Amino acid sequence: MRKGLRQKMNFEILTLFPEMLGPFFELSIIGKAAEKGLVSVHLTDIRDYTLDKHRKVDDAPYGGGYGMVMACQPAVDCIRAVKSRLSGSVRTVYMSPQGKVLTHEKAKELSGYDNLIIFCGHYEGVDERVIELEIDEEISIGDYVLTGGELPAAVLTDCVCRLIDGVLPCSECYEDESIASGMLEYPQYTKPRVYEGLEVPEVLISGHHANIVKWKREKSLERTAAKRPDLLAKVEENAKREN
Ligand code: SAM
Repeated sequence: MRKGLRQKMNFEILTLFPEMLGPFFELSIIGKAAEKGLVSVHLTDIRDYTLDKHRKVDDAPYGGGYGMVMACQPAVDCIRAVKSRLSGSVRTVYMSPQGKVLTHEKAKELSGYDNLIIFCGHYEGVDERVIELEIDEEISIGDYVLTGGELPAAVLTDCVCRLIDGVLPCSECYEDESIASGMLEYPQYTKPRVYEGLEVPEVLISGHHANIVKWKREKSLERTAAKRPDLLAKVEENAKREN
């Protein structure tokens, strides 16, 4: 892992459908972070590495079963080619519903690497030997199954990216947010003060800083208890441990 001053973090996304992801990474906060030189995102088409004359990358599963399986040769050659041109620390992740479910802590951990290689599966997934040979860990974005790893790769890149120094205006921007803070965030309002009869809470326009802080804390506790009591239980447990 990186020590001292942070350099640019590099994301390498290996996919059969690079055209699905291009515009996503060029826009919004990730696009701006890339323009500022804080991150780089490269998309590699796994199909470019197949040795098959028909550009095939998959085959029928041994033992029968539905669908097709992404074959070893193109996947392994693609991952190795990408690894060979990287310098610094590298973590190679396979997006998979069989992985550990992504959390803020995992994103924070991954943001410490110089390079994150994200392999996107498709069809029935990838031949198990690719995972054994080249993958450090499998990550899921939730207990449901998508058709491909492209959306999960975008989710992982986005949430790691915003934790990198300089991508957001300050670290408090994400430290105070839902989940990262251990709780859910208080309700947010902007202009106008009254919308369809619903008013912005008086305290937020009072200008009284201490009262605003107190209100935010109370609302945060209230909605965490209502929507995510599991988080509140964790906060209480940690507080007990610290005392
Ligand atoms: N046959 C596989 C299984 O049952 O575990 C599921 C394959 S899924 C249809 C195709 C690809 O989508 C996977 O290889 C993976 O890359 C991606 N994928 C699907 N659901 C995902 C999830 N919840 N999290 C991360 N990646 C997922």
